[in-house]
Amino acid sequence: ASLAAEALLEGLNPQQRAAVIHEGGQLLIIAGAGSGKTRVLTHRIAYLLATGRSRTGQILAITFTNKAAAEMRDRVGELVGPRARNMWVSTFHSACVRILRREAKTLGLRSNFSIYDAADSQRLMLLVCRELDLDPKRFPPKAFSNRVSDLKNELVDPDDYARTVADSNPFEQNLAAAYRLYNERLRQAHALDFDDLIMTTVNLLQAFPAVAEHYRRRFRHILVDEYQDTNHAQYMLVRELAGVPLEDSGPAAGGADNELPTAELTVVGDADQSIYAFRGATIRNIVEFESDYPDATTILLEQNYRSTQTILTAANAVISRNPDRRAKNLWTDSGAGPQIVGYVADNDHEEARFIAEEIDRLGDSDGVRPGDVAIFYRTNAQSRSLEEVLIRVGLPYKVVGGTRFYERREVKDAIAYLRAIANPDDAINLRRILNVPKRGVGDRAEAMLTAHSERERISFGAAIDDAENVIGLATRSLTAVRGFADLMTGLRDLAAGGASPAEILDTALDRSGYLAELRASDDPQDASRVENLAELHAVATEFSASDPDGDLGDFLERVALVADTDQIPDDDDDRGVVTLMTVHTAKGLEFPVVFVTGLEDGTFPHQRSLADETELAEERRLAYVALTRARQRLYLSRAAVRTAWGMPNELPASRFLADVPEELMDWKRRESSMAVLRGGSFTGYRNRADGGRSGSRGPSAPPVRTTRADTPSFGSATPRADAPSVDVGDRVTHDAYGLGRVIAVESSGANAVAKIDFGASGVKRLLLRYSPVTKL
Ligand code: ATP
Ligand code: MG
Repeated sequence: ASLAAEALLEGLNPQQRAAVIHEGGQLLIIAGAGSGKTRVLTHRIAYLLATGRSRTGQILAITFTNKAAAEMRDRVGELVGPRARNMWVSTFHSACVRILRREAKTLGLRSNFSIYDAADSQRLMLLVCRELDLDPKRFPPKAFSNRVSDLKNELVDPDDYARTVADSNPFEQNLAAAYRLYNERLRQAHALDFDDLIMTTVNLLQAFPAVAEHYRRRFRHILVDEYQDTNHAQYMLVRELAGVPLEDSGPAAGGADNELPTAELTVVGDADQSIYAFRGATIRNIVEFESDYPDATTILLEQNYRSTQTILTAANAVISRNPDRRAKNLWTDSGAGPQIVGYVADNDHEEARFIAEEIDRLGDSDGVRPGDVAIFYRTNAQSRSLEEVLIRVGLPYKVVGGTRFYERREVKDAIAYLRAIANPDDAINLRRILNVPKRGVGDRAEAMLTAHSERERISFGAAIDDAENVIGLATRSLTAVRGFADLMTGLRDLAAGGASPAEILDTALDRSGYLAELRASDDPQDASRVENLAELHAVATEFSASDPDGDLGDFLERVALVADTDQIPDDDDDRGVVTLMTVHTAKGLEFPVVFVTGLEDGTFPHQRSLADETELAEERRLAYVALTRARQRLYLSRAAVRTAWGMPNELPASRFLADVPEELMDWKRRESSMAVLRGGSFTGYRNRADGGRSGSRGPSAPPVRTTRADTPSFGSATPRADAPSVDVGDRVTHDAYGLGRVIAVESSGANAVAKIDFGASGVKRLLLRYSPVTKL
């Protein structure tokens, strides 16, 4: 091998090296956390390229999140240079979208099909259940939605399902009917839901051998990270793409018109980190792998390079209590490291305060930067009390996941406009915006449009365009619907004329009156809605900058595929910011300092797992994932009383805490001073919690999450009539940020941008036209 290739093997241990250079045949790498699985995958790709065994176009690498994909592309880029850029490194979903867009015709799909996210699908299921007249109490649409998702992950189509439940109970029979109609409605809307992306691709490859052959010829190397979290549909996808080796095809069978060789398949995973059973991920995949590819080579990695021995011993102690697992022999030579710090807080606020103080102290004593620190919790709702304290003490932080940006109402509305522009048959999104902002098209009018579309067998969108002929539509509604139809036609023309996604967005929000309505509102929440739309505008502008030829469809595709982990904002200074996230989101990542919070029975492990062995085992794997993210320092904390749903609850210590050997722990506080609380009144605690001082920090830095100080808010086409003109030194008020002082003004008139210091809310750069700023 070349020098460059040799260099890629440097610093790898013998097992890792064997995995990187492995040739000919399937490879299964099953190993514990931090043993270098992802690193092996990256080096293997680079090695394949460096030795000339493969070209970039022949590689398909699958990761669990878009962020992981970007990181892997970067890392391979560092190893082999810019040619890494056009390699297929993506999530299952993105890879499938790429294939489906290309092969849409074969399936009778439009290549600009919409992708429905979970919320869209649930809405559609709601409509379907109504259409079927199902009692929502007995047949909850949400439950149906979840079941349909499960079925798709198992590759069970409506016909299969109807057959298996033919003699079954009403619930399953109705589910079968709803599943069928739901799929029909999706097809009419030229839309696919998230699970369809995988299932449809599998169907495509199975039904059209020529298509399958095309991709099999193309992808000679398929590599999958986090293999333990693939579900059955994903498993079959990989199998279809790689091809299963024929039993009697020895090396001699490779004649010219013979079967295609099987792709080299490399999968890496850790059964102890399987944490997506609720989405259908199954350990069965590893078993099936071994039977589908009987000649597969298995490599075990046993050296951990991430954590100290103390952290590793603790994590092993927790996971070893799970039944039915293959014991592993993970070791590290990085030394014992500091003890694990334990802390019992009185309540969740006090727990947060301890963490903030500790981060501050580590900064002073050990030079730990905020960016080195991650705080984990079991469920998103737990982030709020942590955030409150971090804001108060001025520690910069970001929340990964949480109230996801793309799930906010105004963002969804704006995207609904874009989707309906891109796809005139997208019924769900058309319905969403038909009367948003209010334009006098009520439920009755919508029902008449629906009836018309069914009678005439046309799409809902076509019915809107055919409003004249809708029976029974009142004149007022008719005018309104016509106005809407014209609006959409104008916007579609704009898109067809090659306008950028940002321009289309601006124009849609402007002509529809959506933005004007928010701007006119005196509800402070609407001010932050405008900010969020400004953020969306920034996303669209960034998209065009990175992909100048990208059209509206490309943009929507990007948006649809952004998983929650992708919202990590860029750190603007090298000290970084504290990362807050759920344990699920933390998979695959590592941090020098990790706080695992809420270690209470009922929080982590989750309440609903306490009575179920299987779920408890999954919680334990989740704990194992949490602990093994830490490199040097690990903190385990709990609150004696935690407020959930506005109710204080006294919770016992998590059983996982008891599993950690006592000698590894350094308890900073062992008992809550409130441990004596027994069913009494909690009134005193609230005051105490809120009266807590905010730590000892000086002037506060703004939290990263709220806005990007450097992105001028909403550069759009329509000047605001009353855009205030301000000068340096002026005092102003802003609906959301309060009092501020202008410290700089850039350009003037319609595009005036002012830099304003809002004190505790930080310095913001605002496009005055769109900002609720008033001069004092
Ligand atoms: P997880 O199970 O959490 O996904 P993993 O097995 O994928 O972990 P990696 O993230 O690849 O592990 O590696 C963990 C850390 O150890 C990384 O910082 C990686 O750079 C480092 N590492 C892995 N192998 C080596 C090695 N041979 N020498 C030095 N560092 C290594
Ligand atoms: Mg990994």
